[in-house]
Amino acid sequence: MLNKEGMKRQEFISRAEKYLNSPENINIRATENNKINKQVALAKTYFDKYELAIQRTAYLKNKALENSDKLLANFEFNLNNTKVKVIWATDAVDALKEIADISKELSLPVYFDEVNVIKEVEKEIGNSRHHIPRADKQSKQYIGLTKADFIVADSSSIVCLNHDKHSTQMQGKAKAQIFIAGIDALIQSFNDIELIASLQSTNKYGEPIHANICIYNGNKLNEDDALKEDLFVILLDNGRTQILSDHEQRSILNCIHCEACKRACPVTLFAGENAYGTIYSGPHGALVSHHIENNEDATHLAFASTLCSKCNDVCPMNIDLSAFMAYSRRNAVKNKQVSKTENLTIYFWKNAVMKRSNMDKGGAKVKAFMFKQILRKAWGNKREMPVVATKSFNQLWRERKDFG
Ligand code: SF4
Repeated sequence: MLNKEGMKRQEFISRAEKYLNSPENINIRATENNKINKQVALAKTYFDKYELAIQRTAYLKNKALENSDKLLANFEFNLNNTKVKVIWATDAVDALKEIADISKELSLPVYFDEVNVIKEVEKEIGNSRHHIPRADKQSKQYIGLTKADFIVADSSSIVCLNHDKHSTQMQGKAKAQIFIAGIDALIQSFNDIELIASLQSTNKYGEPIHANICIYNGNKLNEDDALKEDLFVILLDNGRTQILSDHEQRSILNCIHCEACKRACPVTLFAGENAYGTIYSGPHGALVSHHIENNEDATHLAFASTLCSKCNDVCPMNIDLSAFMAYSRRNAVKNKQVSKTENLTIYFWKNAVMKRSNMDKGGAKVKAFMFKQILRKAWGNKREMPVVATKSFNQLWRERKDFG
């Protein structure tokens, strides 16, 4: 009988198997990844010193994260007495309630493109009991809703990247504007935008700079925005402070959402994004989902990794994703979120490998039999069980060195 965690893992495997049954999915994805990876490699050459750029960006983002309480307060304070109202939302439902209230108060529908709204909010829109009247492309008067990719503390700027031309035009013509930003979108200084945005564009699209960058400068509004009657910025927490309070793993919030780790991950390639069953997939999604979605059931995703460190190698923010996967696994074990059978297996395994004499017990055939009995289910039927060598390395070494 499987526990909740085991069932979630089983669901992951079933979805992954479905995906694996259509190899064309994998081929298409691999081709797309290769294409972008080539462009990324080329775009990196536009940096004088790419390694230095990523070290500096990781430092800047880390510094902003460490001081986020003061910087967010600064951001809000600087917007006092301006047209921009800052709203704090604890979760996506809270954010939607605020949007619905603004829409009601201004008696205007809301215009947004799904791709330009924070994913967790977009998912809630369909489920929420807070109805948001939606404007379409023909609407004349509406409130624009869009995500802010970065918010800047010292200038109180709101930065939106790469939104397509039409979407930007629609947002520009809106009578009122709502920006929505995760609190991890915080940057300390306006001077840092160029570097962080270029690094994101390089690693996400393989382009050295975003084709379209819109900066809304708080109290010094652009002409278009000065004409708008109301401006709001919703700062969304949704589990981010929970991650921030975890000193071991907080640097996961340094992520600039470039998706490079997702493209590098063999599990994402062969299992498909759908297998994760969460809003955010890939190595980064596997780590943040149980916080961001407030979804205890997502802890099993830390096991959806080969710990090969390919994600670490490509991450432009130097986030040690593999180590965080291992931490999350450890936490899952500590919190008794793994099955008793698995705990017992690991217990016996540990005892067996801690002592050379235990490891040498039984011949290769006995060991192969035990392997099959214990690991058959976890190993699955898609790969060959490794053959147990007739002599251990220790035995071969002794023979070769003639230790007797
Ligand atoms: S964690 Fe993944 S998505 Fe985030 S910055 Fe690193 S590579 Fe990009």
